[in-house]
Amino acid sequence: MTLPIYIYGTEVLRAETKEVDLKDEHLPKLVEDLFETMYASDGVGLAGPQVGKAMRLFVIDADDLKDIYPETAGFKRTVINPSILEFGNEQVSMDEGCLSLPGISEPVKRPSTIRVKYQSLDGEWVEEELSGFKARVFQHEYDHLEGVLFTDKVAPMRRQLLRGKLNKLSKGKVDASYRTVTK
Ligand SMILES: [Zn+2]
Repeated sequence: MTLPIYIYGTEVLRAETKEVDLKDEHLPKLVEDLFETMYASDGVGLAGPQVGKAMRLFVIDADDLKDIYPETAGFKRTVINPSILEFGNEQVSMDEGCLSLPGISEPVKRPSTIRVKYQSLDGEWVEEELSGFKARVFQHEYDHLEGVLFTDKVAPMRRQLLRGKLNKLSKGKVDASYRTVTK
């Protein structure tokens, strides 16, 4: 089942998120719905708050981007209760977009490598090092769990230029090919 996506301006995108209880019987269905919603809206990642759930989980599937970023081949993950253990020193700037901010794409500077820890759907703890586009997607989704959106990280000058677009979104003026929830 596809779920509607919450747009910039809705409170849940800024809410505090709760640790996920792996014994929650609704969890497998929620993860399935997150993937379905992400695929239907052509996203490479989707976090709980973006479907109105203030929970610490997200899904990623960036395999489709492997022609541009070879490191993303097979990069499909269900990420539950994550933490970022370490950030690399090198920072790179790349354009980002977000299903909760349709029509906006801006360069964001982020560390190019990270070491992360999270639980998989079966409750196993996973630790891995991610680099390149994999590290970028993970950090973008992780930010959603902290109530942070990529436009918060855009350089101040550029953010000033974005104000009109952001105001429109928060007033519910959204042009998206998928179902949305606006303020
Ligand atoms: Zn996003």
